[in-house]
Amino acid sequence: MAKKIAVYPGSFDPVTFGHLDIIERASKIFDHLVVSVFAHSAKKPLFTVEERVVLLKKALKNNKKVSIECFEGLLVDYLKKKKLQVVIRGLRAISDLEYEFQIAAINRTLYGKVETVFFMPSQRYAYLSSSVVRDIAHFGGDVSKLAPPAVVKAIAAHALKGR
Ligand code: ADP
Repeated sequence: MAKKIAVYPGSFDPVTFGHLDIIERASKIFDHLVVSVFAHSAKKPLFTVEERVVLLKKALKNNKKVSIECFEGLLVDYLKKKKLQVVIRGLRAISDLEYEFQIAAINRTLYGKVETVFFMPSQRYAYLSSSVVRDIAHFGGDVSKLAPPAVVKAIAAHALKGR
């Protein structure tokens, strides 16, 4: 039987325990998960794409079902190029719903074969986002309950460099 492979796209700036929760859940259902960092983001990033990939690799080094990549341009073009059709997204509190529905519907319009599969995180991560981590980091706060150790270290290194 063909392997069930899914793509989990996002900004991951930086990866949080919320993303890792979704990845754990998805990797129980799929044979392989490609976590793909979106290389063009309108938001002012805290970490470069390369740094985000390194942080994801460190956080996921024990998960044999996951590979990390990055992509540019439209997600549907990336999916076609990779011959993949399943997209994983996470749904937090209701605020995500409208945006995620819109993106899923547009992706399906652009490429009829796409199926978007949504996962709900554990309750304790339902309000966690990368932007919350970035904001706390900006003010020198402790993010160790929100993001993996590699991210905590990278944020401390940023602070030392005065970025
Ligand atoms: P984007 O900038 O495209 O929203 P993110 O990296 O912030 O990318 O998120 C990628 C995906 O992960 C999105 O589907 C988002 O809803 C989901 N996600 C982010 N944080 C969490 C969380 N705490 N719990 C569940 N899903 C999450």
